[in-house]
Amino acid sequence: MIVILVGPPGSGKGTQAQVVCAKWGIPQISTGDMLRAAKRSGRLEKRYLDVMDAGGLLPDEAVIGLIDQRIDAEDCGSGFLLDGFPRTVAQADALVELLAKRGRLTDAVVQLDVARDLLEERLVHRRTDKKTGQIYHLLYNPPPPSVGSEELEHRADDRPESVGKRLDAYEAMTAALLPYYENKGLLRRVDGVGKPEDVTARVLSALGR
Ligand code: AMP
Repeated sequence: MIVILVGPPGSGKGTQAQVVCAKWGIPQISTGDMLRAAKRSGRLEKRYLDVMDAGGLLPDEAVIGLIDQRIDAEDCGSGFLLDGFPRTVAQADALVELLAKRGRLTDAVVQLDVARDLLEERLVHRRTDKKTGQIYHLLYNPPPPSVGSEELEHRADDRPESVGKRLDAYEAMTAALLPYYENKGLLRRVDGVGKPEDVTARVLSALGR
């Protein structure tokens, strides 16, 4: 099963991806996570780091190269879930080619639908456990008392000054993927508002599982 999760920043792609991938035993491939790992280890070029922290999109070639290498790993054999890639029509076209070269196809694209005013609120309250990658919302899904504030990361691009730019980038570049995948008959729309476990149930049902 090759599944793509599409949705604006803060729509719950990462949260849903973690649950679905654990359930199906397939890897979650998040270009954002790969770029943040490169940033932590000092391998991310400064020009990319600045774009990322300000909430812009990296050039298509940079992220397509990451995916090209990643999907050949052994753990991708029985499928994978893409979270945060593709984000432009050019990336989506490149993905078709990358998969075709390997004799593979995308099975489904799940759109997580959340209104913009809710997204801004979710992003500024989002925190990630640095060790486990678990995602929390300070008000609605707070970390347990055993997780100290020093163990939580507030992403540089989740600060209010970058959030608006990321949402604008989604509307300008990524929203075009919805008609793109709809025309291919792959798009399944899911209401992304509600408790994370309720959204998971909708995602699984949209995927026929
Ligand atoms: P994410 O964790 O998916 O929200 O990604 C964080 C940031 O990484 C984005 O705001 C972009 O700067 C960059 N990024 C991640 N994936 C992509 C992509 N597919 N295309 C361009 N930039 C990306």
